[in-house]
Amino acid sequence: MLECKSLGKIYHVDGNDVHALSDINITLPTGSFTVLVGPSGCGKTTLLRAFAGLIEPTTGSIHRDIPPCSVISPSLQIGYVFQEPRLMPWLTVSQNIGFGLKNKTSKQDLNRRVADVLSMMGLERFAQARPDQLSGGMASRVGLARALVGNPDLLLLDEPFAALDAMTRRRLQGELTTIWMARKPTVVFVTHDVEEAVLLGDVVYRMHAGLITERYD
Ligand code: ADP
Ligand code: ADP
Repeated sequence: MLECKSLGKIYHVDGNDVHALSDINITLPTGSFTVLVGPSGCGKTTLLRAFAGLIEPTTGSIHRDIPPCSVISPSLQIGYVFQEPRLMPWLTVSQNIGFGLKNKTSKQDLNRRVADVLSMMGLERFAQARPDQLSGGMASRVGLARALVGNPDLLLLDEPFAALDAMTRRRLQGELTTIWMARKPTVVFVTHDVEEAVLLGDVVYRMHAGLITERYD
C-alpha cells in the first residue's frame, strides 16, 4: 500500500509561500485504482509527483510499501504518464518505449517486453515510426506503453487523456481499465473531469486548494 500522513508541500514563489498541499492523509491499497479530481491548481500534480518521489514534501511522510512484482529491479517500479506524451522525436516508437529500460536488462528481454506492450496497445504497425508521424491518440498510447513496459507496481497518470477527442479518450479509458484488471498495479489517475473520475476510479478523492475535501467509494 501507499500511505501518506500529514503531507504538505509549500512552494516559494517570489518571496511568497504557495501552499500546494495541506495535511493530506490517504492510504491507497495495493492494486487499487484511485482518482484525484479537482480544478486546475488544486494540487493534483504535486501530490502525484510526491507519490513518484519526484518532489520532496515540506511536511509529513509517504510510505510506499507495495510488494515489488518486477523482475527488472528489486526496488519499486514506477510508471509515470504525462498529459503530453513527451516522446523523443529522434527515436522510433520502439526506442521511445524501451529507452528507460536500456542497460537495465538484456537486449533480448528488452525486445520481448517492447514487443509485448506494442501488441497490447495495438501499436505494432507503428514500431518503427517517428513520433511526428503519430496521431494524438497513438502518441498517447506510446506514452502509456512506455510507462507499462517495466511492468510497474505503481502507475501514476497525470491527465493522460485530456488532450484527446472524446472517442479516442473513451477507447483509451477502456483499455486502461482492462490493463489494470489484468495486471493490478496500484494506479493513481489525475483528472479535472468529474465524469472521467467516476468512470475510472474505484476510489475517487476530490481536491480543492491543496486539501482532500471528499472521498467517494
Ligand atoms: P494541479 O495539478 O491540480 O493543477 P498543481 O499541483 O500543478 O495543481 O499546482 C498546485 C499549486 O502549486 C498551484 O498554485 C501551482 O501554481 C503551484 N505550483 C505547482 N508547481 C509549482 C512549482 N514547481 N513552483 C511553484 N509553484 C508551483
Ligand atoms: P498541470 O497542467 O499539470 O497543472 P501546469 O501547466 O500548471 O501543469 O504546470 C506546468 C509546470 O510548471 C509544472 O512543472 C509545474 O510544477 C510548474 N508550475 C506550475 N505553477 C507554477 C508556478 N506558479 N511557478 C513555477 N512553476 C510552476
